[in-house]
Amino acid sequence: MADTMIRGMAANKQVRFFACNSTDTVEKARITHHTSPVVTNALGRLLTGGVLMGAMCKNDTDKLTLRIQCQGPISGMLVTADANGHVKGYVSEPEVMLPANDVAKAVDLGVLSVIKDIGLKEPYVGDTHLVSGEIAEDLTYYFATSEQVPSSVGLGVLMNKDNTVRQAGGFIIQLMPFCDEKVIEKLEQRLAEVNSVTAFLDEGLTPEQILEKLLGDMDLVINDTVPTQFYCNCSRERVSKALIAVGRKELNEMIQEAKPVELKCHFCNSAYEFSTEDLKELLRKSK
Ligand code: ZN
Repeated sequence: MADTMIRGMAANKQVRFFACNSTDTVEKARITHHTSPVVTNALGRLLTGGVLMGAMCKNDTDKLTLRIQCQGPISGMLVTADANGHVKGYVSEPEVMLPANDVAKAVDLGVLSVIKDIGLKEPYVGDTHLVSGEIAEDLTYYFATSEQVPSSVGLGVLMNKDNTVRQAGGFIIQLMPFCDEKVIEKLEQRLAEVNSVTAFLDEGLTPEQILEKLLGDMDLVINDTVPTQFYCNCSRERVSKALIAVGRKELNEMIQEAKPVELKCHFCNSAYEFSTEDLKELLRKSK
C-alpha cells in the first residue's frame, strides 16, 4: 500500500486531525541514509511528524521544517515537508548503535525548532527544548507552548527482523479553541486507552481505521486523502545555483585546483559532479 495522509475534523469541528501511513517513506529514508535501527526509528518518527505538520501548511508553496539539535549520539536531524505530501530529511549520525527503541537515549537533551517558510522575507521559527527525546511528546510540547494548541501526537516505526521498516505512521489530534469540556474529557479517556500508535500499526490498521478507533463516535469527517512520499527536489540546476552563491573567490579557488568537485545532496544523497570546465562556466554565469 502506498503511503497516504488524511485530514479532517470531528465533534462538529471542535477537533481536527491528521493521520498517515509512512512505511514506504521511512523505508526510503533508511535506504537513502543507511540508518541503524534506532536512527531509522528516530528519523522515521520525525519524518512522520513532518508529513502531518506539512499538511497544516495553508499554501502549496509553504514549507515546514523540523530541526532537532541534541546532545545524544544522533547529534541532529532535519526534516522538510510541504502540504502536498512531500517530505525529506537527514540525520547527522546515521550509524548510532543502540537498541531500536532507545530513541530518547539516541536523541537526549536538545532543542526542537519548527521553521515555517510561507514566502515572507524571514521564516517563522519556534524553538522549544526537548521534553523527552521521544519526538511525539516533544511535538506535543511544542504545540502547547509555542502555538497554544492542546494536541495529542502519536508517532511510530516498527522494524522487521532484518531491520527494514515493517510499519510506520502517526496522528496529530488537536482541540480547537471553542472545544467543549465533554468532548475533551471523552477524547482524553480514549487516548488514555491507547498504548501506542505502534500497536495500532502492528495490527495492520490504516490511518482511517486508527482515527475510527479514536474518534469513531464523534462525527468523524475525513476532508481529504493525500498520497505522501519521501521526495527530494534537488537538481543539477539547483546545485549549480548553490555553487554560484558560494562566491567568485571560492569558485576561482576550485578552478585553480583543477580537480572535479562532487557535491552531495544532504537529503537524498544524490551526487553532482562538476568538472573544471563546468566550474569555469558557472564563474562566467556569476558575473
Ligand atoms: Zn536531493
